[in-house]
Amino acid sequence: MRLNSKARLNRSQIANRRGSGGSGPGFPVGGRGGMKAGGGIGGVIVLIIIVLVNGGLLDGAGSDGTDSGGDQVSTDDLSHCRTGEDANKDPDCARLAVVNSIQSFWSEALPAESNRPYRLADTVIFSDEVSTGCGAANFDVGPFYCPPDEQVYLDTTFFKDVLKGQLGGHGGDFAEAYVLAHEYGHHIQNLLGIMEQVRTQQGPESDAVRIELQADCLAGMWSRYATEAEDANGRAIIEELTERDIKEALDAARAVGDDRIQKRTSGWVDSDAWTHGSAEQRMRWFMIGRDQGRLMACDTFAAGQ
Ligand SMILES: [Zn+2]
Repeated sequence: MRLNSKARLNRSQIANRRGSGGSGPGFPVGGRGGMKAGGGIGGVIVLIIIVLVNGGLLDGAGSDGTDSGGDQVSTDDLSHCRTGEDANKDPDCARLAVVNSIQSFWSEALPAESNRPYRLADTVIFSDEVSTGCGAANFDVGPFYCPPDEQVYLDTTFFKDVLKGQLGGHGGDFAEAYVLAHEYGHHIQNLLGIMEQVRTQQGPESDAVRIELQADCLAGMWSRYATEAEDANGRAIIEELTERDIKEALDAARAVGDDRIQKRTSGWVDSDAWTHGSAEQRMRWFMIGRDQGRLMACDTFAAGQ
């Protein structure tokens, strides 16, 4: 991935809360070890969504955390991220550029495809622990989207320690871009009211898996137009994507496939426990979104299997 060195980055779209810690209410589905069973990008992510969809997290003990954290946002640490040139040198600036590109794309594509307006959603970078509109979350949760506060949460050590380390992915800057685009896919689903359709939560044909595969498809959709998404001055943010970049995204999608994670953690595959879809499914839906580039093509709920 090569960023356009002349592109202006919009720093307001990422908040850096590394090191600020989290002091919100207890997180009902996280906890050390819990994530390992769920796996990678994650079991727990979908659990969060499901809990939210079912209302449990908001109705229960976590309700006092609904608006926690909003006032401690600071963007100071990314003040060095001004242009695409900065993003070509610095991983945090590259993440900001990717977030800018994803949101620039959806600001146009969502109204065009669905007649609904896009609402900007910030990404919060944290370390170890963070309080969110979904309660306190820690590193184990992996990257996730929180529907009530409409923010993406990311502990960037996930890429090295989990995606490359535990899950055996090859990494790369576009592997990271895929993960971010997947989480913004959940934001799109939230804006479209699709998350409310989740009823069944496990198994290869469950609603939970359909939601996750759709987020992969939406990530692929962005990747198709990624080099066209522009900054505020009308300059493309991402200048070039190569086959290698797409391979990095597919490799990451494979690494976070439920069957792959199960094989690595328990040595065997239990499809009844799937929450995100198999490696093959995740790669396939990313490519469907990339090849077809239309929201309609990403209707995983209409797909038979
Ligand atoms: Zn997801």
